[in-house]
Amino acid sequence: MPAPDLETIVSLAKRRGFVFPSAEIYGGFANAYDYGPLGIELKRNIREAWWRSMVRERDDVVGLDAALITNPQVWVGSGHVANFTDPLVDCKKCQRRFRADHLEEGAYGEIIRDANGNIVCPNDGGELTEPRQFNMMFRTQVGPVADESAIAYLPPETAQGIFVNFDNVAQSMRKKLPFGIAQTRVSFRNEITPGRFIFRTLEFEQMEMEYFCRPPKDRNNPAEYLELHRHWINERLNWYINVVGIAPERLRLRDHDKDELSHYSAGTTDIEYLFPWGWGELEGIAARTDFDLSSHGALSGKPLSYFDEETNEHVVPWVIEPAAGLSRTLAVTLLEAYTEEPDEKGENRVVLKFRPNIAPIKVAVLPLSKNEVLRPTARRVYDLVRPLWMAQYDETQSIGRRYRRQDEIGTPLCVTVDFQTVGEKGEAGDDAVTIRERDSQAQVRVPISGLVAALRERLGSS
Ligand code: ATP
Repeated sequence: MPAPDLETIVSLAKRRGFVFPSAEIYGGFANAYDYGPLGIELKRNIREAWWRSMVRERDDVVGLDAALITNPQVWVGSGHVANFTDPLVDCKKCQRRFRADHLEEGAYGEIIRDANGNIVCPNDGGELTEPRQFNMMFRTQVGPVADESAIAYLPPETAQGIFVNFDNVAQSMRKKLPFGIAQTRVSFRNEITPGRFIFRTLEFEQMEMEYFCRPPKDRNNPAEYLELHRHWINERLNWYINVVGIAPERLRLRDHDKDELSHYSAGTTDIEYLFPWGWGELEGIAARTDFDLSSHGALSGKPLSYFDEETNEHVVPWVIEPAAGLSRTLAVTLLEAYTEEPDEKGENRVVLKFRPNIAPIKVAVLPLSKNEVLRPTARRVYDLVRPLWMAQYDETQSIGRRYRRQDEIGTPLCVTVDFQTVGEKGEAGDDAVTIRERDSQAQVRVPISGLVAALRERLGSS
């Protein structure tokens, strides 16, 4: 099924408690969104899936959680104070600001030109200024005095906390090259282009890993290093397909052109997704060379190097960085999971076909109806399930409507307790429940004593 349009997803996300426009009662705030009860579960599951693949299942990668607000020299050393800029133009009439490169890509709607062919303001047709470089980092101040020395920055990426801790981690964990350090957390960028839902926001979560390896013998011909770059590109692409469940035909790799490369990169390949408006970046895998470690070593006066016991010399490792956007991946899971199809009665149903590991709620426990006789057993079943999986208990409205609601939030399994379970008219019940599968809508009856095993079989290790 082709991906749905964005409005459908935005509206479902709000209606069902995934993502809300931020501060809506005050008219919202451009490029800011709040995550609701289901949104945070979905986000946690994607983060967990990433951590599992990148850290838990590997011997060579460890985690880190560095401070967000830190010594501003970090951002001087990384090159962000000087280089983390975007070209901005202003409208001379309405004073609105636009990103010059996004204007040319049509991100503000139809491209309007004057008689000379120059792009004009998409708002009122006014003449635009020449592009000026604008730093995208948010500034704040630390301490009681508001002078230049108090300036600090909100991090625009997670990587630098990793680089400045390279020595701490290598020493404390006794790591030998090659090894990686992974981190997931929020980053901030002063994005002025109106975002498309959570695709581009002021704050967003990133999942980044810096993989440190031996420097190449010949800087100009780093064949092994480029091979390692390729290896990580493939690992990451496979993760989106096999773990998150994204259709391969809506994913592609794109190598950056030379003039597009970030200030630190010797080569970057993006994993792109076919969004409803076209291809857009989901993750960048950058070959950062020794740029960051060398630069922080030089600026701080404390060389960040590694003692290579094989060659008996200090070397500055080179780095491959897979940098993924958690919030963007979340948007993609919603787009990918959205399905409309006939239900048991041939009526249209909306289903979010999340993989079980990604689904916010794994099991819904539903008594057939709101009834005193059913409730104690239904609660017993719920208590059995909830320590093991994120579960929901719901007894209001007809069972059909409750199935629809669970379909619409992507719950893989519903467990129904009925009168046969508890027994009727003096007859003993069978103490069995019905498991209903979201995708096939098939129903099977299992004894409560075997329920956990039956759920585990269907949910896997999620
Ligand atoms: P773009 O060109 O789309 O602005 P970028 O190339 O600047 O992205 P990177 O610096 O490579 O992005 O960051 C790595 C990942 O972080 C991106 O692939 C994306 O998933 C995510 N990301 C970056 N900026 C934002 C943002 N403003 N909102 C949400 N996610 C973002």
